Amino acid sequence: MYDKNNVFAKIIRGEIPSKKIVENEYAMSFYDVNPITDVHVLVVPKGEYENVLDFTKNASAIEQAAFWKCFVETLDKLGVMCDFNVLANAGKNAPLTEQSVFHFHLHITAGKKVCK
Ligand code: AMP
Repeated sequence: MYDKNNVFAKIIRGEIPSKKIVENEYAMSFYDVNPITDVHVLVVPKGEYENVLDFTKNASAIEQAAFWKCFVETLDKLGVMCDFNVLANAGKNAPLTEQSVFHFHLHITAGKKVCK
């Protein structure tokens, strides 16, 4: 069940701040608050989708096209079209890294790893 009070829903509604990169009617991208690389951003649809599977199965063609347009424009704007990673965690027990925010998002990482 989608939780309307998750942090990305609040960002989309403008209830909490974010460092926005690209926005269109159906999607937006913003910087991750806890970056693991020099460039670490998130791309989200504005619709209420819990994870990548929910989005792919249930979002309209217009929403999906707008999401990928936002994705490409984000890479372009950040100047990282060549060397980057994309990650979508799905589920609280996802084996590589767990999903912690249950609003579909893609991580885009580029540049060097941040030393923690
Ligand atoms: P995931 O584990 O795939 O669900 O990733 C959630 C990501 O959201 C993490 O990388 C967090 O650092 C990031 N995050 C959490 N709260 C915020 C926020 N307010 N603004 C930007 N990124 C956030």
